[in-house]
Amino acid sequence: MEQTYLIKYGEIAIKGKNRHLFEEALVRQIRLALERLDGEFETTWEQGRIYVEGGGAAESWEVIDALSKVFGIVGICPVKKVEDRGLEALGDDMVRFLEEGEYDLAGRTFKVVTRRARKSYPTESMEVNAYLGGRILDWCPQAQVDVHEPETVFHVEIRDKIYIYSRVIPGPGGMPVGTGGRSMLLLSGGIDSPVAGYMMAKRGVVLDAVYFHAPPYTSERARQKVEDLAREIAVYTGPIRLHVVNFTDIQLYIYEKCPHDELTIIMRRYMMKIAEIFAAKCRCLSLVTGESVGQVASQTMQSLAVTNAVCTMPVFRPLIAFDKQEIVEIAERIGTFETSILPYEDCCTIFVAKHPVTKPNLKVIERSEKKLAEKIDALVEEAVATTEVVEIKA
Ligand code: ATP
Ligand code: MG
Repeated sequence: MEQTYLIKYGEIAIKGKNRHLFEEALVRQIRLALERLDGEFETTWEQGRIYVEGGGAAESWEVIDALSKVFGIVGICPVKKVEDRGLEALGDDMVRFLEEGEYDLAGRTFKVVTRRARKSYPTESMEVNAYLGGRILDWCPQAQVDVHEPETVFHVEIRDKIYIYSRVIPGPGGMPVGTGGRSMLLLSGGIDSPVAGYMMAKRGVVLDAVYFHAPPYTSERARQKVEDLAREIAVYTGPIRLHVVNFTDIQLYIYEKCPHDELTIIMRRYMMKIAEIFAAKCRCLSLVTGESVGQVASQTMQSLAVTNAVCTMPVFRPLIAFDKQEIVEIAERIGTFETSILPYEDCCTIFVAKHPVTKPNLKVIERSEKKLAEKIDALVEEAVATTEVVEIKA
């Protein structure tokens, strides 16, 4: 269905040169989101307004659904776009808008808000408001004008064309992807890390990702699950370069040389180190994980500190203070939960100790890692060299 939408964004928060970058990124992300639909769309951007026009085979709910996943959008308004044929004709257009939108204004309050962006328009905004308000009352005499707290607001924007709208469908908010730098997400098959990636993207961050698997201890299906999760969050984040690292030999070597209760923590340190190598290659400025304080032994304050000690880049943990239930709710809302709970094995759980250290000491861990001196550098190099990079798109 052919339809025009006015896109509202948080314009107050952004000023000067940043505003231009924000708008450019937003238009780019809108175009990217609409590319996936079956239809032709035109996204235009003029004087602080973004309009989307088109549709074709795509239903309007599909368009709204796609737009509601574009960060930076605060509201999506289906608008009626009409030619300027004088005030009386605009009144007719308003009535048609009410009829098409099946508005029921009986016993309800409303007001008209006109914005005259084209100053050459002969009638002043207040007069347009009054005239159109009168036409609405003619159409529905049981309606009432209330300029202070109306139940319905009819917006009229006078530009080259005239736009009428009332309904504002909330967008996801946040910042357009591309305005917040680039991060490397440590993406496992669990519930948390996809949510962490989603939250960073909401602040405008572009993501690449790294996944550590341990074939044959972890299956091809476990890997497929991670690719599926990456595809599911790519709806919000845009394309992701997923690095699939074969971690088996490193894990086996740690298992052979180090105390088993320290295994998870040492393994996590090597994951971070390798993630940072790819982050630097991809020009990322930070790492992102799905960690949350106290969730498991490897996420106590002490464990986080010991893991963090290997990193030189900042490590962002957007879920750090979230309860599991809160994370699950986001996962359900963004559509990753069902995939995350599929039962495939994770590389961390295979060699896991019965009683992992919960309060590791950095000095002690570093001493244990000395036992890896002989081969670990070569193994890390090998893991980096054999990493597969998969381009994931929604
Ligand atoms: P998640 O639900 O994200 O898997 P989790 O509760 O299972 O988290 P851990 O297994 O301790 O917690 O992992 C903590 C974080 O470390 C994950 O959120 C993720 O960012 C990263 N991580 C863990 N395992 C892997 C892996 N195999 N590949 C990439 N990153 C991983
Ligand atoms: Mg996990």
